[in-house]
Amino acid sequence: MTDPAALARIADLARRDLPEVLADLRRLVELETPSNDKALLDAGLDGIEAWLVERLGAPAERVRHAGGEYGDVLEAVYPGTGAGDVLFLCHYDTVWPRGTLAVWPAAVEGDRFTGPGCFDMKAGIVQGAWALRALRELGLPVPTVRWVLNGDEEIGSPASRPHIERAAADTDLALVLEPSRAGRVKTRRKGMGLFDLAVHGVESHAGLDPEAGASAVHAIAELIPRVTALAAPERGTTVNVGVVSGGTGRNVVAGHATAQIDVRVQDPAEMPRIDAGLAALTAADPRVRVELSGGWNRPPMNPNSATEEMFALAREVAAGLGADLEQTAVGGASDGNFVSALGRAVLDGMGAAGSGPHARDEHVLISATPHQVALAAGLLTAVAAR
Ligand SMILES: [Zn+2]
Repeated sequence: MTDPAALARIADLARRDLPEVLADLRRLVELETPSNDKALLDAGLDGIEAWLVERLGAPAERVRHAGGEYGDVLEAVYPGTGAGDVLFLCHYDTVWPRGTLAVWPAAVEGDRFTGPGCFDMKAGIVQGAWALRALRELGLPVPTVRWVLNGDEEIGSPASRPHIERAAADTDLALVLEPSRAGRVKTRRKGMGLFDLAVHGVESHAGLDPEAGASAVHAIAELIPRVTALAAPERGTTVNVGVVSGGTGRNVVAGHATAQIDVRVQDPAEMPRIDAGLAALTAADPRVRVELSGGWNRPPMNPNSATEEMFALAREVAAGLGADLEQTAVGGASDGNFVSALGRAVLDGMGAAGSGPHARDEHVLISATPHQVALAAGLLTAVAAR
């Protein structure tokens, strides 16, 4: 269902609602929710839930899964009036530490709404609720919507992953309301491995007794080029050694050194190759021991047939709203990667238009916001009418 008259009414409503959407965005941005601050995450999720209930009423089903040291996961289900089950995948944590808001308050500057976490991804949460409100007001069919709000996405979703995978198990579409890339939908994301290399050598005095030592720093310096040689940019595989540390003093043969490695892959077949390459790392000096830890955080996301079908539908909706919808590939992973690996349809980056995620110039483009709301609403009602 991509009835042009219905889409025009959706677009009108989204334009009318813009001031309220922006007021809600300010309200959510003003709830600071850094991934590593349990007290703020708990209070933030309380505030987001209260807001959600104000906007959409009490959900038919509601569970708050305890996250332990990580943010809790809120699952809320709003039954549909039409066909289909859609998962709204949203994270409420941000990369911004406690106190950021005091030096960088939410503000409107021309066509930009700025503030910590506005683009990634408080705006997506707000837009999702307003898309549903628009469909209700117009009496258009709505699919059943299951919200999953997690608070540990920015640190790899250690606590929320099983909840996401269970909630997504038989969904028709996971709408990941993460930021868009210049209005484009992300249908391809790289998978990500987080590996740690620890090198254990033998300490000694660098002047009096050098041959008694076996330097962990010298060994890791030899290992790093072998790590970076595992990159294969032509296949989309990148390797970055982001942090290196080791040693205790200039005149001490280093007993210990570590390296933090970030690996990104587009092709799942690259994962075992990287695993084997890292596992094969040994130092030339037999007294030096190399220890590898960490592993794959998220698998790569590549469009499956269900995603392609949903992208085609979203494209039709966008065209009905007078816009072209493009898809794109990005190097960053999201929770969409987990859902895609289950073979379900995933449209990621269906949230805000803007730029600067994780950066001080993070902002949402105000003039593009009604279209993003209308696109989500149009797609939802198209799914419900299938
Ligand atoms: Zn995000």
